Amino acid sequence: MLVSRGEGARVMAGGQSLIPLLKLRLSSPSLLVDINRIPGLDRIEESEEFLRIGALARIAEVEASTLIREDYPAIHDASEVIGDPLVRNLGTVGGNVSHGDPNNDMPAVMLVLRAEFVVVGPAGERTIKAQDFFLDTFTVALNHNEILTEIRVPRRRPWSGGCYLKLEQKVGDFATAGVAIQVRLAKGGECEEIGVGLTAVGPTAIRARKAEDWMRGKSPADRSAVLELGRLAAEDSNPSTDVRGTSAYKKKVVALLVSRAFRKACERAGGAS
Ligand SMILES: Cc1cc2nc3c(=O)[nH]c(=O)nc-3n(C[C@H](O)[C@H](O)[C@H](O)COP(=O)(O)OP(=O)(O)OC[C@H]3O[C@@H](n4cnc5c(N)ncnc54)[C@H](O)[C@@H]3O)c2cc1C
Repeated sequence: MLVSRGEGARVMAGGQSLIPLLKLRLSSPSLLVDINRIPGLDRIEESEEFLRIGALARIAEVEASTLIREDYPAIHDASEVIGDPLVRNLGTVGGNVSHGDPNNDMPAVMLVLRAEFVVVGPAGERTIKAQDFFLDTFTVALNHNEILTEIRVPRRRPWSGGCYLKLEQKVGDFATAGVAIQVRLAKGGECEEIGVGLTAVGPTAIRARKAEDWMRGKSPADRSAVLELGRLAAEDSNPSTDVRGTSAYKKKVVALLVSRAFRKACERAGGAS
């Protein structure tokens, strides 16, 4: 259907982003292709290399998964703060990333976990790295005749941990700012690998690369280094002033959330907090 109807056709999963767009007449597809009854797309399982989240796995199922809570805590944290239970019961993680909304919570998490997205279309299957997927606001690297079938997250390694924190004006809101951190600690306790992802402070979810480069090789117990990590992440962000706050305010929120999320991620990795 996607091939024969061309760009007028649109995939629908949980409908939690798409239906509001249709209601506001911001999108008027000539055909909705409901993928909900395609079997096998709702699995959450680990293979030898990856945690595999099927495109139709509901956010509520991810939230309830013990495997994800224990081994991929940044995904669990984000799943708990997306909208409200009604949104999470229908909304999918696949839809959350495919929508390309910089205010959505999962993209930053997928960036720091170095996830990849499996996509199927008339030319067969291809895999897109999360860092190449989010092109611009509401624009992702999916062609109109392709569907996302699976999200693959590299399996948790020893001494690694993650965290997602979000400031919202009231429960269920989109983020004023959100922060995803994933770390891996070396034997001596210093930070060996780090990913810093930011929500709602740029045209897409972004990685704060200056901040990441700064923290590599440093000790999580070094408080001034952790404060600098937050400051550099704020420098990497580019928030706009809107109803949720001024740009300057959001940068302060980023700095604070980054240092808090970093400490939590290190604690979860088994290191100093
Ligand atoms: C009241 C409310 C509050 C919300 N609060 C938050 C929040 O705090 N944080 C947050 O992150 N999100 C929030 N959302 C958005 C919601 O989480 C996302 O809408 C949901 O995860 C999207 O998934 P979906 O399955 O509903 O996607 P849909 O709405 O069905 O689709 C969204 C987009 O992705 C495309 N798409 C979906 N699945 C695929 C696929 N497998 N392959 C290719 N394209 C696909 C669709 O064509 C469409 O363009 C909120 C939504 C509502 C209604």
